[in-house]
Amino acid sequence: MSLASHAGKFAAPAANAAGQVPLIGLAPAEMQAVMAEAGVPKFRAKQVWHWIYHRGAKDFAAMANLPKDLRTALAEKYSIERPQAAAEQKSSDGTIKWLLKLSDGQMVETVYIPEEKRGTLCVSSQVGCTLTCKFCHTGTQPLVRNLSAEEILQQILHARDVLGEWPQAGEKQSGAREVTNIVMMGMGEPLYNYENVSKALKICMDAEGLDISRRRITLSTSGVVPQIVQCGEELNVNLAISLHAPDDELRSKIMPINKKYPLSALLDACRNYPGLSEQRRITFEYVMLKDVNDGDDQAAALAKLLEGIPCKINLIPFNPWAGSEFETSDDGRVRKFAALLERAGYDAPVRRPRGRDILAACGQLKSASIRARKTDH
Ligand code: SAH
Ligand code: SF4
Repeated sequence: MSLASHAGKFAAPAANAAGQVPLIGLAPAEMQAVMAEAGVPKFRAKQVWHWIYHRGAKDFAAMANLPKDLRTALAEKYSIERPQAAAEQKSSDGTIKWLLKLSDGQMVETVYIPEEKRGTLCVSSQVGCTLTCKFCHTGTQPLVRNLSAEEILQQILHARDVLGEWPQAGEKQSGAREVTNIVMMGMGEPLYNYENVSKALKICMDAEGLDISRRRITLSTSGVVPQIVQCGEELNVNLAISLHAPDDELRSKIMPINKKYPLSALLDACRNYPGLSEQRRITFEYVMLKDVNDGDDQAAALAKLLEGIPCKINLIPFNPWAGSEFETSDDGRVRKFAALLERAGYDAPVRRPRGRDILAACGQLKSASIRARKTDH
């Protein structure tokens, strides 16, 4: 299926149940044009934009510098609604995971991971995923649809609401914040929903929008080569590649997308990603699967494969789920694998599993909640 027909088939609903047009997710000029049709002047549209993205207004009534009758009229026509949190789980390490219910009842996951000097929000791009990576739980859930730009942004707005970090009147957007970094690493393949992801990220990066620098945004992909090139040219956010294997044979077995875009094409796109330097490196993600991809020879092959690419290799302990065919590599094995990569000159940190007690791996909260609902009655 081409990307364009994919986008049409799996599109999110255009208006909410009440027939109101969503404003969140529209580019500034689009929002002005939509509101101009209803006779709202440009400067008022700009004020609404500022209320949404700078002040976190959840309804038009809060927009104090707009005339009252205009606020009422806007509330009838447009929506700036938030998704409902169907579940919230807090881990003992501070990680918070939300299961958000969208306007048509579909559910997505968003995870907030606080660290010492930053807070990262892991954002979803699709409900489910069409790619069927063998180790990934989301891959077992059929794709239901793409998220709209609105729904991608709503995840960030929701996190800011809960964490209480909207600036007050006169305060700068870039003051102290909980959510400092965004990673497109939740459910779904962001580059199979490129149009909406790019629309949302542009608003995220806009100084008048959420004002999060592209250096603090990372997009993770399983390797959709044509859109990696487009993403580099248009967004130039940080790139993470789910690599998980050092050769085509194994990678095609555990990640079927490799048959379409094999390693040579993928790594070419990585080498040519604009703006790479030692300060700005690609992250290769490598989930450690016991006796599958964690051998000494595989570490050597990986080191050779990535030669010349400014990168780091994130080693991720496999997060097991019921019914999966893999096991987590032993700690000693992971340490040895990391040491071999380090000896070859790579940074190869082992990613500390966060929120283990709340099923924080991709796709697992949603499935657990579906299971719970099924056994409820
Ligand atoms: N579709 C994109 C982004 C979402 S997946 C991608 O594949 O990159 C985010 C990351 O979680 C990917 O690196 C993915 O390979 C990894 N992942 C998936 N299932 C996992 C599991 N059970 N344990 C550890 N990491 C997993
Ligand atoms: Fe989809 Fe990424 Fe999971 Fe693969 S790892 S099934 S691309 S979400």
